[in-house]
Amino acid sequence: MVRRGTNLDRVGGFNDAVVLDAIRRSEQLSRVELAEATGLSGQAISNIARRLLDAGLVREAGRLRGARLGKPRTLLELEPTGRYAVGVHLDPSVVTVVLLDLTGEVVARRPVDQYADDPGLLIDGIAKTIEEVIAEAGAPRDRVTGVGIAAPGPIDVERGVVVDPPNLSTWHLVPLRDELAERTGLPIVLDKDVTAAASAERWAGQGGSFVFFYLGTGVGAGLVIGDEVIRGSSSNVGEIGHVIVDPDGPLCYCGRRGCVGEASQPRYLVQQGVRAEVLADGIDLDDRQAVEAAFSRLCALAADGSVPARAIVTALAERIAKVVEDIANLLDLERVVFGGPHWEHLAPVLDAAVREALEGRFLLRAVHPFEVTGTALGVDVGAIGAASLVLDRTFSPDPSVGLTLDGER
Ligand SMILES: [Zn+2]
Repeated sequence: MVRRGTNLDRVGGFNDAVVLDAIRRSEQLSRVELAEATGLSGQAISNIARRLLDAGLVREAGRLRGARLGKPRTLLELEPTGRYAVGVHLDPSVVTVVLLDLTGEVVARRPVDQYADDPGLLIDGIAKTIEEVIAEAGAPRDRVTGVGIAAPGPIDVERGVVVDPPNLSTWHLVPLRDELAERTGLPIVLDKDVTAAASAERWAGQGGSFVFFYLGTGVGAGLVIGDEVIRGSSSNVGEIGHVIVDPDGPLCYCGRRGCVGEASQPRYLVQQGVRAEVLADGIDLDDRQAVEAAFSRLCALAADGSVPARAIVTALAERIAKVVEDIANLLDLERVVFGGPHWEHLAPVLDAAVREALEGRFLLRAVHPFEVTGTALGVDVGAIGAASLVLDRTFSPDPSVGLTLDGER
């Protein structure tokens, strides 16, 4: 939905952001179309277009000849190099850094190569990698508007602190936002990984109301309802990992059995694979790399039609479908989007299996269809989402977070 402007041009950058956002959503618009879309006067649009052109945020993109006689209309579109945003995905197994241009395209990406358990060393590595992606893309540093970080919950957004992420045992109350701001000199936005991923999907065109179901080190849910990213009271929305889906399932670190997070982990699936004699015995379940390798083998076997391997993934689909069904019914959603590092491996079988499992269960089917899809953004969805949080602010008409044309922050 295009926001409406106000012809009382007293709110500073509000109308500029409204116009910029309208151009982003339509890709190309003429000044006349912009006036129609935003409710602003032709004169206001002319002034704003001039400012946006001068600031290098939009460019003229050829002319549109209308059916009626008159002056051909000049189209405006975003200038991709006008601004850049950095995204960092802090995952317990790999930290990825991306750089997006103003249109949301990934122009550079790189994993942080010195992965360290020590938070200080890892933050050093992140800061270095940020400089590398900016240099690699040839982006002028003064056009880099900020860094978004997607971190595992729980997080303290007010203080910019990663509280106590499971699977990152050395991380406890790490002031990630301020530490990284000090090292880079850039404004930093911290948000939960699943919220960032949901934000990325929304940027990529997934509208309406959906849940992003993240399958990685832990599971989580990001929510978009009525085109808005939902954060909850403390930005910790989507902690679904401890919903019990199998009372006889594996023991979770929370002390209970059969939590969906634990029951979706490669470790548990590999264990089941060994028990079903699909995988050879003797895999060290405490060796993360060995488990990952066995997990991809199990997924490949399932995709190739191995009956016992397929049964393991189908049972996983049942457990996940139960959680998706509850969330979707509670919030009247129209879609689930799957993603995260484990989705890539599971997708060939899990995609159809979840769809089938939901077929029979979904209450809302009677009212409207429910869609099951995988992310179109691949394994970088978390990092792209983190950067999109920064771009969101660039396009936001809220003057406290919105864009600044003169590069001031
Ligand atoms: Zn649990």
